[in-house]
Amino acid sequence: MKTVFVPAYDTEAPGACLRACERIAEVHRAMDVPATFFVVGKLLLGEERAPYRRLLGDARFEIASHSMNHALLRDHPALEAPGVAWAQVEDEVRRSKGVIEDAFGRPCTGFRTPCAFVDGLGAGRLPELVAACGYAYSSSTGWGPKYSLPVPVQPAYAYEDCPKLWEFPAHGWHENVLKGHNATPGRYLLWPPVYPDHVVTRFVRTPEEEFAVHRYFIDKAVALGAEYATPIWHPWSLGKFDPEMRMLRLVFEYVRSRGMGFATFEQLRARKPAAPVPAAA
Ligand SMILES: [Zn+2]
Repeated sequence: MKTVFVPAYDTEAPGACLRACERIAEVHRAMDVPATFFVVGKLLLGEERAPYRRLLGDARFEIASHSMNHALLRDHPALEAPGVAWAQVEDEVRRSKGVIEDAFGRPCTGFRTPCAFVDGLGAGRLPELVAACGYAYSSSTGWGPKYSLPVPVQPAYAYEDCPKLWEFPAHGWHENVLKGHNATPGRYLLWPPVYPDHVVTRFVRTPEEEFAVHRYFIDKAVALGAEYATPIWHPWSLGKFDPEMRMLRLVFEYVRSRGMGFATFEQLRARKPAAPVPAAA
């Protein structure tokens, strides 16, 4: 199986994400690269609805849910913050799907929890809710052991209690943390590290340095024979650091130079069996 690269964007900040998406969409169109945008539903209720429809309505872009209001759906050990009440969790998951489908006129099959968790949606009622709302996959695993970074390359798996629901873990770094846009220095590094040959000793300073970090995980995914590689990108943070999106071009050129393809998460999900066998414990 040839490893593919999945460009995915957590699209969540009013104003800044939309401005960055102008340039991001342009790079994707120019280079003919698909993408998955996990969009916060409330962005599609106001004045940004029309520009987002225009920018991301292209069939090459998958629009998935990043909740309704970017609320924490579970207690978060790394952020030391509590999850919202269950009634709001239900609303965040269910209503965002409807808002996205209404805005873009096609099914929204994917869900990504705000801030991600080491075990994705966890067990019990949250994966059950996500499946019951009609989502086919989640991509909510975004931390390494003990809520460290980077996230190791790990394969997609089915939720034990909801075998129809797939989880596609992200890999590598939350790029906003790499740049110090959101970071609590000293909190995220594991010792001994999962990948001793990958050490980031300071915040990245240039798009080229950022590219080198993502390249490590692309190479790692290929070396491991992984189905896909996907870092955690945020339009607002990409735009703040690299408004021309040079890093995106470097990554996409590198992916091509390695003979790899691109995919959206929904494309990966569509080729999975309907009722997968749960991952072995
Ligand atoms: Zn987010």
